[in-house]
Amino acid sequence: MINHAEIAMLEEALETLEGGFADLPAFAPELDPQRLRPVLEEVATRMQDNYPYPHPYYAGQMLKPPHPVARIAYALSMYINPNNHALDGGRASSAMEKECIRDIAAMFGWSEPLGHLTGGGTMANLEALWISDRLHPGKRILASDQAHYTHGRITEVLKIPFGAVASTATGSMDLKALENELRQGDVGTVVTTMGTTGLGAVDPLPEILALQAKYGFRIHADAAYGGYFVLASALGDDVRRRYDALTEVDSIVIDPHKHGLQPYGCGCVLFKDPSVVKHYKHDSAYTYFSSDELHLGEISLECSRAGSSAVALWATHRMLPPVAEGEFATSLDRCISAMHQVRAALDANVAFTVLHDPMLDIIVFSVTGDDAETISAANQRLFDRASRRNLHLALIEMPVEFVSNRMPIDASEEDTVTCLRSVLMKPEHDEWAHDIIGVLSELGDS
Ligand SMILES: *Cc1c(COP(=O)(O)O)cnc(C)c1O
Repeated sequence: MINHAEIAMLEEALETLEGGFADLPAFAPELDPQRLRPVLEEVATRMQDNYPYPHPYYAGQMLKPPHPVARIAYALSMYINPNNHALDGGRASSAMEKECIRDIAAMFGWSEPLGHLTGGGTMANLEALWISDRLHPGKRILASDQAHYTHGRITEVLKIPFGAVASTATGSMDLKALENELRQGDVGTVVTTMGTTGLGAVDPLPEILALQAKYGFRIHADAAYGGYFVLASALGDDVRRRYDALTEVDSIVIDPHKHGLQPYGCGCVLFKDPSVVKHYKHDSAYTYFSSDELHLGEISLECSRAGSSAVALWATHRMLPPVAEGEFATSLDRCISAMHQVRAALDANVAFTVLHDPMLDIIVFSVTGDDAETISAANQRLFDRASRRNLHLALIEMPVEFVSNRMPIDASEEDTVTCLRSVLMKPEHDEWAHDIIGVLSELGDS
C-alpha cells in the first residue's frame, strides 16, 4: 500500500540519487501536468475495483503486499529504470542481483550456485526444466498431481514427455505411485513441490532422495511459494526434515514475489552445479560490451528484465536478512501461527470441517454437510456472505474423494466440491486471526 509517508521518504532518497548525476548539463524530461492529472485520476478510480489485498481481512488467494522498503527502493530505482540483461543496462542493479542470489542460495546451504532472478516462477521453472531436459534428453519429467499446472504446460512448450504422480490425502506426492513410475526406467527429473499452491503441501523430499539413490534422476524443487519456509522455526518435525533436505536437490525455484515481500516480476532460479552454465551459451552481437564480467543475460533465457526488481529485493535483504531466526523468519512463523489459530477454531466448530492437515499457512475447509451439491452451494454462500462482511476468502475445486476423506458425503454425480481456502500469508494475520475467526463463527452459526 504506497502511502504518503513512503512518498516523503522516496523524495529524500531521490535527492541523493540525483546528486550522483549533478555534473550533467541541465535536462528535465517533459512533464505536462495538465494532461497527466486527469489520466491519473481515472487510473485511481479504475483501481478501486479490486479486493483490498493489503488489508489482513483479505485472506483469500496467494497475495502478499510488498514490504515498504521494497516499494520505495523499486520506485527510487525507476529514476534509472535499469535493465538487468546486461551490465550496460544496469551495472549497480546487476551487482545487487548477484548479491541477492548469494543470499537466497545461502538459505539452502549453497555457496556457489548458478542463479538469477526471473520475471516470475513460471519463467524460473521453465529454465530449470529446460536444463533438466538438456541433461537427460528425451526422458520423462514427473511432478505430483498437486504440482502447479505450469509444469504440464512448460513440458508441452519444451516438448518433454511429462507424467503426473498421484498424491496422498495430505496433498503431497505419493511415494508408492512415484516408485511405480520410476521402475519404468525413463524418468530424467522429478519435480518436488515444496509447498503446493492449492494446499501448501510439502513433498516428502528425504524419501524422494532415497529413491534417487536407487533409480538415478535429477530433482528440481519447485519452492516458488513455499521456499522461504526453510527459514521458519514453527514447522512440524516432518515438514522441517523435508525442508532440510533441499540442500541436496539439483535446482530450486523460489519466488520473492510470493512470500519474499516483493512487487510482482520477481522469481528466482538456482542451480546447485554452476557448470550447467554451458547450456546457456549464446553470442549476442549487440548486448555485451562493457566488460568481461558476467552479464546476467548470459545465464538466463529472458533478455530484458526489470533491474528494479533486484534493487527492491536487495533493499529488503538489507533491512530483513533472509536468515533463520531473524525478523523475516519470525514473520513467517507468524503466518504459520495464524493458520494454527484458524485451524483450531474451525476444528472446534461443528459447522466447519478442515479438509487436510495444513503444513504451512494455507488452510482448505468446508461448511459441514453431507452431499456434494449442497456443500458446494453452502461454501459459495459463505464466501459471498464473508465478502459482504469485508472478509475475503478464496474458493477451490477439490475432488469428491479428497473431501470425503474428512467428511462422509453421499454418492454423487459431481466429481468435485467447491471448498473454501484461505492463505494466511501476511504476518499480521497472526493478530487478526481472532477477528477472522469471529466473523467465520458468526457466519457458521447462522
Ligand atoms: C506461484 C507458483 C508458480 C508460478 O509462479 P508465478 O510466479 O506465478 O509465475 C509455480 N509453482 C508454484 C508452486 C507456485 O506456487
